[in-house]
Amino acid sequence: MAKPVIAIVGRPNVGKSTLFNRLIGKRISIVEDTPGVTRDRIYYEINWNGRDMMLVDTGGIEPRTDDEMLRYMRLQAELAIAHADVIIFMTDVKAGLTASDRDISAMLLKSGKPVVICVNKVDQVGELPAEFYEFYELGYPDDPIPVSSLHGTGTGDLLDAVIAHLPPEDEAMEDDGWHDAIRVAVIGKPNVGKSSVINKILGEDRLIVSDIAGTTRDAVDTFAENEHGKYVFVDTAGIRRQSKINDKLEYYSVLRAKLAVERADVCLIVIDAAQGVTEQDSKIAGLAHDSGRASIIALNKWDLVEKDDKTIIQYTDMVYRELSFMTYAPVITISALTGQRVPRLFPMINEAVEQARKRIPTGVLNEFLGDAITRVEPPSDKGRELKIYYMTQIGTQPPTFVIFCNDAELFHFSYRRYIENRLRDVFGFMGTPIKIIIRERGDDADL
Ligand code: GDP
Ligand code: GDP
Repeated sequence: MAKPVIAIVGRPNVGKSTLFNRLIGKRISIVEDTPGVTRDRIYYEINWNGRDMMLVDTGGIEPRTDDEMLRYMRLQAELAIAHADVIIFMTDVKAGLTASDRDISAMLLKSGKPVVICVNKVDQVGELPAEFYEFYELGYPDDPIPVSSLHGTGTGDLLDAVIAHLPPEDEAMEDDGWHDAIRVAVIGKPNVGKSSVINKILGEDRLIVSDIAGTTRDAVDTFAENEHGKYVFVDTAGIRRQSKINDKLEYYSVLRAKLAVERADVCLIVIDAAQGVTEQDSKIAGLAHDSGRASIIALNKWDLVEKDDKTIIQYTDMVYRELSFMTYAPVITISALTGQRVPRLFPMINEAVEQARKRIPTGVLNEFLGDAITRVEPPSDKGRELKIYYMTQIGTQPPTFVIFCNDAELFHFSYRRYIENRLRDVFGFMGTPIKIIIRERGDDADL
């Protein structure tokens, strides 16, 4: 699970996105034809020489600026740096070594993370341009690596240099209890009670909490074990230390949630019950949904709500009305203050992850499909009938299915929705989104 995280940082326009897109290659096309998945995902998995890594693209750092957007981008880069195991520091040979490069370099030095310096836009093979040698001035132990993101040259050497900074894979995977733990992102807008929930959870006596630094990311995450299992709470360092000044800024908290979600198996979406569901809550829930992660919705501060025997139902209905894209997520009302129902979160987390990891055998799926088609006939259009041939599950977390048919255009949204609802009626999948990919027969190039 714990794949090393590689962050690409540098000034705007040095070519980070170009490199990113080159390294992730054809992954993008898979994302494009998957409904419900946003395309501006920050993290991508890549594999180089058999080694899996998470690559994170940052917008860019412009240290010398008061511009709001550029400051936002810098925050994003700082977060990525905090999460990274190795940093690719990208510069531009055409611009040479700039004052901003030096500032970024100082910032990276302070982070203490291993840095591989990449000099981009070295498009000509052969002799290196004189400007290339300027980057030795930054004084990194490794030689700068010349790359042309445009042509793809030098990227292999770059990844080799990155891997040289990672611990050997068997060592990285050696069990310290972390890698088979369920990774939980506790997300929500500021002041809903995320810190209180986490502190309540971690405060339980029977819980063993560990801060021991094994990999660089352990500084950011918290490991906990109890009778329900092993858990890693993602990006909790700031929360536990109560140094959350930046979290009060909306864009920062959304971004932080986004990064946490990408590294989690399950999201615990915390909402302030006393306030109800706000637009910012749906934005954050949307991140969890779009990333395909399993989710649980916790209505916190339940102690503040005046209630009778119908209140829970009314609140649950309200949540599903506001977060209509997420009716698969179970809702629980809790109070981090009194601890009410907080222990129940663990069985819910386990169940959601189990559902998200479930695999339905192809034979069973096709029996299901035959039955679903008999119950509700596939649509037809201008005399042409939708014929559905076959269905198979190609992935988990989220459960992802491919359905083969004669004409994808006839497979209307409503019929897709029907199949999804039937899947849930028959197989459950409580807590997790489901992806359904429609393919015309013969069109299986991407599988
Ligand atoms: P980012 O802001 O760092 O993500 O930079 P982009 O990837 O958007 O690239 C900025 C500009 O540099 C674009 O016009 C790219 O086409 C160009 N660029 C990126 N890589 C190279 C390269 O290796 N050689 C040349 N000549 N141009 C490049
Ligand atoms: P975060 O910004 O989401 O991490 O929220 P905090 O955990 O810092 O909580 C914000 C405020 O809400 C603090 O004053 C908490 O004491 C309060 N709070 C958190 N959980 C509860 C709860 O269950 N009930 C009540 N009444 N207050 C809570």
